[in-house]
Amino acid sequence: MLSLRGCGRWVAASLAKQHLPWAQFSADSAAPTPHFDVVVIGGGHAGTEAAAAAARCGSRTLLLTHRVDTIGQMSCNPSFGGIGKGHLMREVDALDGLCSRICDQSGVHYKVLNRRKGPAVWGLRAQIDRKLYKQNMQKEILNTPLLTVQEGAVEDLILSEPEPEHPGKCRVSGVVLVDGSTVYADSVILTTGTFLRGTVVIGLEMHPAGRLGDQPSIGLAQTLEKLGFAVGRLKTGTPPRIAKESINFSILNKQTPDDPPKPFSFINETVWIKPEDQLPCYMTHTNPKVDEIVLENLHLNSHVKETTRGPRYCPSIESKVLRFPNRLHQVWLEPEGLDSDLIYPQGLSVTLPAELQEKMIACIRGLEKAKMIQPGYGVQYDYLDPRQISPSLETHLVQRLFFAGQINGTTGYEEAAAQGVIAGINASLRVSRKPPFVVSRTEGYIGVLIDDLTTLGTSEPYRMFTSRVEFRLSLRPDNADSRLTFRGYEEAGCVSQQRYERACWMKSSLEEGISVLKSIEFSSYKWKQLIPEASISITKSHPVSALDVLKHEEVDMESLAKVVPDLFKKYTQCRELAERLKIEAAYESVVFHQLQEIKEVQRDETLQLPKDLDYLTIKDVSLSQEVREKLHFSRPQTIGAASRIPGVTPAAIVNLLRFVKTTQ
Ligand code: FAD
Repeated sequence: MLSLRGCGRWVAASLAKQHLPWAQFSADSAAPTPHFDVVVIGGGHAGTEAAAAAARCGSRTLLLTHRVDTIGQMSCNPSFGGIGKGHLMREVDALDGLCSRICDQSGVHYKVLNRRKGPAVWGLRAQIDRKLYKQNMQKEILNTPLLTVQEGAVEDLILSEPEPEHPGKCRVSGVVLVDGSTVYADSVILTTGTFLRGTVVIGLEMHPAGRLGDQPSIGLAQTLEKLGFAVGRLKTGTPPRIAKESINFSILNKQTPDDPPKPFSFINETVWIKPEDQLPCYMTHTNPKVDEIVLENLHLNSHVKETTRGPRYCPSIESKVLRFPNRLHQVWLEPEGLDSDLIYPQGLSVTLPAELQEKMIACIRGLEKAKMIQPGYGVQYDYLDPRQISPSLETHLVQRLFFAGQINGTTGYEEAAAQGVIAGINASLRVSRKPPFVVSRTEGYIGVLIDDLTTLGTSEPYRMFTSRVEFRLSLRPDNADSRLTFRGYEEAGCVSQQRYERACWMKSSLEEGISVLKSIEFSSYKWKQLIPEASISITKSHPVSALDVLKHEEVDMESLAKVVPDLFKKYTQCRELAERLKIEAAYESVVFHQLQEIKEVQRDETLQLPKDLDYLTIKDVSLSQEVREKLHFSRPQTIGAASRIPGVTPAAIVNLLRFVKTTQ
């Protein structure tokens, strides 16, 4: 640990492995001014991923954050993943990011959501031990080669002349901390979450804070505004925390975790916790009494009176009562950790005065005697219109300045982590003057997230969903490595050799497995005899391949290994490989067609749409009325622009593309 010009606590990660870059001297002082390749401001979910990614890419990186002991803090729910969000985590992991691995070391209840639907939309999710996640994340960050961590609040940016070859008003060249000290950098990433002019709200009380107990970021917000960035205001909230021993779980519905738990990371075959040691969750519901307390006390609730937009898909109990009156809303009681005495009541985010929160909780089944340990609260904060950044997450206004995370109007740890990894990679590539690393909509959920933000912007906290993704049958959680790991290794240098080799092994094993599956053919009659439980219909026609048989729900690699052990047994030795072969078989034909369509759309993304096309009346093209209206109102110039209009389906785009090409 070093101390420098009183600018806070310096925690040099793996000091022995690093050369601290004190080389540059500031103009007005004899003291050396530190100079890093990349400086990341903020140690939340975006900042940690950004800093680690930049360092993995070979950049000497500094992570500047208010407090080292809040690195990896989960501000709200003690859980990671879910539908769409789990996909983002797999993609972050495919680029060797941190959150998936840390979740495999810190979860207490793993469950794959959406199991009844196809694996393309399965949502990996886990309840996380808050304390353990923080500990593991801090250990990881403080031991990352080339990464230094420093405590301090950044107040301002140092700017210089722009590079002539790049557009932009000016270039960022460093940061100024609250004590006036400076750090120079070739790229700077801002990941300040809800802290820009953050205000915490409980009842009618409002005070400046980034989140409860943390100072807000005022100076930086003013700097950004002065630079000309368009700033908006959003709000979010968190539920109260309840003492575990005060809840009557015996009368509530219990949700048991998966056995065995499914790891988030491609490089883990198991998670840290034994299946039987996982903790259960419980479900209860709100009732008309809760509605009554909320509605009678709206005048005591500043957060609700605010017209600022809150998260549509994770709304407060007040929003739910106002929007859907007389309904019972689910409340999940989730453990905060293995040895934690706290329960997080998911679905009960609230900003009523604390005493009314207690009253409301006591009306809920199972919580009649519940003890509230910390009240719920809301936070209102500045965000920057994400249309001011490019797909590499570099800002248009200031060269070499990148934004990632909630500052861009998103909500959620996973959305923040996904942007963080991309900003970290690109900030580093920018330093070495390499082309940006951009993930397209056809390559990943990360691509959809960033494309939506940078082209459409957002006026409410943006959350990832599978329904936002056009090519979701191809962009599955199981195959994120084949989509991103190779690119990450070759183009960005952010992927370790070990992970790269694992991805290569998986790729060749899958290719080999599929070719072996295709090569084994029997008549349908024989297959039915060999695997009677499979719903194979017997026909006299062509022989049927093992790959086609594997498409049947009742058949897996284990069943095939019993039939032809010499050929198939080896594919059952690795659980992930066996599962992926089954998924590949199930999606084989549909993905083949979708890939053709992806190629078609990619090839013609810039195809101009006729200016006089009357979408409402054109015939000979299959478009739903909803799609017609959307095209009519948006009047996109190109096929690419049309494909980005929310609600315009991939199938509609392909139909429109073919129609325009035939009529030109
Ligand atoms: P954060 O995790 O907020 O991290 C920001 C970091 O920047 C902090 O470490 C902070 O100390 C640091 N920092 C800020 N300014 C400076 C500065 N000037 N100098 C140095 N360091 C600085 N998400 C959901 O999905 N669902 C929810 O219901 C939900 N509710 C939430 C409720 C609350 C009250 C809060 C605060 C957040 C909630 N979130 C929710 C959002 C989720 O926590 C964030 O989306 C996620 O943490 C964003 O990650 P981030 O890295 O962008 O920012």
